[in-house]
Amino acid sequence: MTGNGDSTDTRASSRVTRRTLLKAAGATALTAGVVTATAPSAAADAGPFDAIVVGAGYAGGTVARELTARGMKVLVLEARDRIGGRIEPGTLAGQHVELGGGWFGPGQNLVARELSRYSLTTREDIHTTRMVMPGVGGGFQSHSPQEAGARLNTLFADFYAGSERYFERPYEPLHRKDLLASVDSLSLADRISQLHLSGVDHDWVSGATSVFAGGNRFGSLTGMAQWYQLAGGTYDQFLSVMSLLPEGGMISVLERMLAESGATVSLNSPVTAIRERGGLTQVEVSGGRVYKAPVVVVATPVNMWSTLTFEPGLPQVYADAAREGVGVPHATKLWLRVRGTSEAVSAQAPEGAPILLLIPQAQLPDGRLFVAFTGPSLNVSDPAAVRAAVRGLLPEARVVDYRAKEWHKDPYARGGWGLRRPGQLLRQLPRIQEPFGRVVFAGGDTASGWHGAFVEGALESGFRAADQAAAIAG
Ligand SMILES: Cc1cc2nc3c(=O)[nH]c(=O)nc-3n(C[C@H](O)[C@H](O)[C@H](O)COP(=O)(O)OP(=O)(O)OC[C@H]3O[C@@H](n4cnc5c(N)ncnc54)[C@H](O)[C@@H]3O)c2cc1C
Repeated sequence: MTGNGDSTDTRASSRVTRRTLLKAAGATALTAGVVTATAPSAAADAGPFDAIVVGAGYAGGTVARELTARGMKVLVLEARDRIGGRIEPGTLAGQHVELGGGWFGPGQNLVARELSRYSLTTREDIHTTRMVMPGVGGGFQSHSPQEAGARLNTLFADFYAGSERYFERPYEPLHRKDLLASVDSLSLADRISQLHLSGVDHDWVSGATSVFAGGNRFGSLTGMAQWYQLAGGTYDQFLSVMSLLPEGGMISVLERMLAESGATVSLNSPVTAIRERGGLTQVEVSGGRVYKAPVVVVATPVNMWSTLTFEPGLPQVYADAAREGVGVPHATKLWLRVRGTSEAVSAQAPEGAPILLLIPQAQLPDGRLFVAFTGPSLNVSDPAAVRAAVRGLLPEARVVDYRAKEWHKDPYARGGWGLRRPGQLLRQLPRIQEPFGRVVFAGGDTASGWHGAFVEGALESGFRAADQAAAIAG
């Protein structure tokens, strides 16, 4: 068995090969979905620019396309040697796998609109035929998907009771600010203790919430309750946000957005400082090169803001968000190639377990691919530990290969998907969506609707930030 601990923290930036200048013409580039990527040395020659975008994830890509559509000349500075950020395609057993975001769901209209714009098709993910769930005495028990689904619906109706009132308009999370005051300070762990659940019910709920929060004490009740209401207000509907996959992978829309934009995309260009001087922003990248434009859009994860020098310094509310973070503190996605079973079985375990969620993926001639989300107790660099963790849920399964991505160790994410911390909605959200001088902030972590864990929110934030940047640039 070979394990592949794919932690980006082991990838030294000096070893990254700089991409050569690709000279794809606009129309060709759009058809093929190819991004015109420029070496940092060439980007300076392409100026002057009307706007600089920091980060080539979905938020940055949206801003770039929307600003160039208004006739603005845009430079995108991306720290990595690839676009996509927390969307990262990979392969295992010859199959396309998503190391970051991959799914979307029926109510996510911005994603659907982009897929349609670029004539991209989608497919439904594999349907689960059996669910392994926590049982009495710390063991596990099999259920039909219908039986487990009904029990989860009931448990989460209690868990999120009241959210239909305090998120009466889930796309306007502060509409019932008056009702939020009593709940926004609660963590998921606080809510679980309020409910005095029986042992098994506790285990069903704690694993299902912990997997989204990187630990129940970190995630806010209102963060997840808002997703629940955005999805329609039942647990079934919430799970359906993980039901659809774009053909060609989640990256395919972003490739086309950036190609359509014609923006100059400079890879291997980590921004270190943003200074406002005499009506311009000066954006410095590692190595000292400085680019100038009337406006800059910071489209990095919130967890990255504290690594940037801002002059003048950011006001307290942005600094607080950066210090507390929005990206969850533990987010490991583990792809497994398994023999010994080809059944489309899924499994869920209580908080603290090595694997919290296991989802069946493509069937293989000799078994199946599974994708798992792990807890901090599993060391994914240890193949024996990974094998034992899988056997604990599926005793018949034999792991023959795996690939893991630990996002909390990624130097340009410093966290996983976003989930607001307790209190952040009321203390920070409206303010961190506002520009600070000539600096505008984008990113899924700052979205009003599908915040944090969804490409839908990154798109939403990108459209909002593009309007703000265009207004500042005049
Ligand atoms: C494991 C995992 C699973 C997920 N699953 C799903 C899913 O199934 N469905 C879904 O919709 N969403 C999912 N998400 C969330 C989704 O991936 C994100 O919400 C979305 O990609 C965020 O886009 P963004 O542009 O805001 O940020 P990012 O994608 O993080 O993009 C920010 C960019 O900024 C760059 N950057 C950072 N610092 C600097 C710097 N100093 N200088 C220059 N560039 C910099 C980064 O390299 C990155 O490219 C998942 C996320 C993770 C981690």
